Amino acid sequence: MVPVVALVGRPNVGKSTLFNRLTRSRDALVADLPGLTRDRQYGHAKIEGRPFIIIDTGGITGGEVGIDGHMAEQSKAAVEEADIVLFVVDARSGLTAVDESLARDLRTFSKPVHLVVNKVDGIDVDAALADFYSLGFESVNPIAAAHGRGMSVLSEEVLLPIAPDLEQVEEENQKRARHPKFAIVGRPNVGKSTLVNRMLGEDRVVVFDMPGTTRDSIYIDMERRDKPYTIIDTAGVRRRGKVRETVEKFSVLKTLQAIEDANVVIMTFDAREGIAEQDLSLLRYIMDAGRSLVIAINKWDGMTEEQKDEVKSEISRRMMFADFARMHFISALHGSGVGDLFESVDEAFNSANVEMNASKLTRELEIAVAKHAPPTIKGFRCKLRYAHPGGHNPPRIVIHGNRTSKLPESYQRYLIKHFIRVLKIVGTPIKLELKEGD
Ligand code: GDP
Ligand code: GDP
Repeated sequence: MVPVVALVGRPNVGKSTLFNRLTRSRDALVADLPGLTRDRQYGHAKIEGRPFIIIDTGGITGGEVGIDGHMAEQSKAAVEEADIVLFVVDARSGLTAVDESLARDLRTFSKPVHLVVNKVDGIDVDAALADFYSLGFESVNPIAAAHGRGMSVLSEEVLLPIAPDLEQVEEENQKRARHPKFAIVGRPNVGKSTLVNRMLGEDRVVVFDMPGTTRDSIYIDMERRDKPYTIIDTAGVRRRGKVRETVEKFSVLKTLQAIEDANVVIMTFDAREGIAEQDLSLLRYIMDAGRSLVIAINKWDGMTEEQKDEVKSEISRRMMFADFARMHFISALHGSGVGDLFESVDEAFNSANVEMNASKLTRELEIAVAKHAPPTIKGFRCKLRYAHPGGHNPPRIVIHGNRTSKLPESYQRYLIKHFIRVLKIVGTPIKLELKEGD
């Protein structure tokens, strides 16, 4: 289980600044892409190699705190599902009535709450903290999220202690590389459980265990053409004879945990419902987490040509950033297109584990640079010297050179495109790691 951290606090204390700092993704593929600029609700963070799910409760409703200072129901639900809460307050405004009210709300959950006192830049820290100790939470952590100050202590003392250790993470990564383990995710009613049953084969009677908690998906091992797969069923539906019953209501966290645990994600849409903001958030999460992606546009049966065109144009307008993934127009109900999903799952899985070696990567780096040199910055040119593999799931390419920290995102995207093409990668993001010097 990947630990879940909820950020709670009144507006303007700096929650989204902290969220961005924690989830900051250096991935050039997803940086600065249009359509993804909205406030994000949940994000994938990696701290010293350990994954975390961060929820910004402020982003859940936009107005998480009412005039009376009470938390909205949705924020409460997020806190309920979190392992720890970071209660963010503003050092400059001191302890306010709304903070006190939120603190009372938070005490009603039996969750560890850590106080994060933000904006301590340029002020007397000890004086600013004095007020807040009286709240009596687990720990009091001064930070300046905007400048990064205090972040490493917060990570060391509050976040890392709840993370699995690195060996465990490494073990999980190795397991992940064995065979395709794909999560079927999407909003309620898009057809996830219909798809799961269709992929398992009509006649197969499967007895699932009830999930233990709302955070648990159902794991189903299966074989197709003698190849093993594991389906992670987030719909939480089981079949009892012909009766299907919905066991759990939709939980974003269940979906995020499933994404963390999968090596390929089949993101499912209802062709008649279009693309929602939440879908884009999920897609972004999948990419940040480095998971391979296959897109299934479901309920393609019974659509008029006009409706089909409309759906396709909405996709090309709003989902360009996910164009590395194969897209399938399917009918889970009738089975059309479902077999092809397996081919794309295989392809994405193989891409995530693509063989790379230093000499080929370096040669390709040289070819890319020869075609199109890195831009000069203040009269100096970034020099890219050599490349080597940095790992799988997703493929990571390490590039050494001079002034690499100045390499513009656009140029990084150019390099990524080049590597994707020559390595014949489909359906998986790749990550560049830029290193200074040898
Ligand atoms: P949210 O409403 O809680 O999500 O708050 P935001 O993250 O949007 O931040 C509110 C304001 O506080 C913005 O103008 C930020 O630039 C500012 N801010 C955030 N963190 C810091 C900080 O560490 N120091 C200072 N001085 N300002 C900050
Ligand atoms: P879930 O909540 O995502 O698991 O969605 P379900 O699998 O329960 O499906 C929701 C509804 O959509 C059900 O009534 C299904 O019969 C229907 N449905 C699922 N797939 C298709 C499809 O390909 N075409 C049509 N027309 N309906 C579908």
